[in-house]
Amino acid sequence: MLPKVSVGRHCCASSSNIENYRPLVGDAIINEILELSRSLRGVRICNINATASGGGVAELLSRQIPIYQSLGVVADWRIIHGDKDFFTITKGFHNALQGAAFELTPAVINDYLEHNRLSAEALEGDYDVYVVHDPQPAALRHFVTHNSQKWIWRCHIDTSEPNQAVWEFLRPYIEMHDAAVFTMKQFVPPDLEMERVFFIPPAIDPLSTKNMELPLDLCRRVIADSGVNLREPILLQVSRFDPWKDPLGVIRAYRMVKEQRRGVQLVLVGAMAGDDPEGWGILETINAEVAIDPDLYVFTNMTGVGNMEVNAFQRGADLIIQKSLREGFGLVVSEALWKAKPIVAGAAGGIPMQFPQSYKQFLTDSVEDCATDLLYLLDHPDVAKSFGAAGKERVRGQFLLPALIRNEFRMIAQLLNR
Ligand code: UDP
Repeated sequence: MLPKVSVGRHCCASSSNIENYRPLVGDAIINEILELSRSLRGVRICNINATASGGGVAELLSRQIPIYQSLGVVADWRIIHGDKDFFTITKGFHNALQGAAFELTPAVINDYLEHNRLSAEALEGDYDVYVVHDPQPAALRHFVTHNSQKWIWRCHIDTSEPNQAVWEFLRPYIEMHDAAVFTMKQFVPPDLEMERVFFIPPAIDPLSTKNMELPLDLCRRVIADSGVNLREPILLQVSRFDPWKDPLGVIRAYRMVKEQRRGVQLVLVGAMAGDDPEGWGILETINAEVAIDPDLYVFTNMTGVGNMEVNAFQRGADLIIQKSLREGFGLVVSEALWKAKPIVAGAAGGIPMQFPQSYKQFLTDSVEDCATDLLYLLDHPDVAKSFGAAGKERVRGQFLLPALIRNEFRMIAQLLNR
């Protein structure tokens, strides 16, 4: 059997009770979710991805599944089999689907398909709907013989201009699904031929440990405890160590800011995801920079930085950076805006849609622009404050967990003709 990820028990007092979101998002959406859940009661859904921790998909599933279950929908989360070689290949696919070069050899194809075949053999058939996340398990459907279920391929990355060789290889496997879900219309590869394509952006959970309200005083104590100086400005990027998140570009932008504001500090917080072997090399390069710069900090989940600390850093930082070059959605952008924090971010993928309309000038395309925007916001705290406030309302309206659950319930009800 494919390993099942435990997301803990739920009880009515916890965030898995949908009623607890009513004060944050209003009645209409909660009532619709309750109505949809009545027609979906007893439906069995199996989410399949490659890792239980690190990155946005794991973050989303760990929050969604307890709520699904509390609403009477059977939701499981299973992890495919993989080893370092397989995850190196699938990280290459991930990058290639976002446009990077990749050498697609027969050995690569063989390894990828063999792992999918083994995972398919280990998959139980007693579900009504399978939701397959991202490229790692995209060929499972091909190897599974039980045919009565609905299969959904959920794409979390920007596949608008994929590497042709990798896309042509994966496309037939993806097209075997009954539906595909993309974060936005622009991400659909031009030649995808599927009858049902849905557009559903991800969302953050305002009640999770990562996003719950925390007293500022506590956040500042957490930050001080890590050795960062609270008397000087703090810039923060929270991201996997991935070339598309451009951590080295962030360091260059920070150094440009530092030429004007000597005390400024940069904190990089980065989780190491189980399916992302590329991260270690990037972390090593960053550590070499940290060694020569006392105002540059790097923290990882390996040194105890968990959800609570990420929350505290996001709330206590002066400015947030998310200098992505390519991005599926970028949950961290909504996480920052929900905390009413101003953010300078790359104009990539799903990031612009999260920005409040009047503050899109803080979407950047270069290191120089990023530095200029950071300096401007440091010098204009009134603009920074109103940007954060507008960002919070934008996230409330569109990118909180109930919106995602409502959209997914609508899709599943449609696919199952309920
Ligand atoms: N994250 C975290 N700790 C870290 C780095 C990232 O908890 O050190 C979380 C982050 O808060 C967010 C998710 O991982 O919830 C990253 O999602 P995003 O969509 O921004 O990027 P992805 O990693 O999926 O490309």
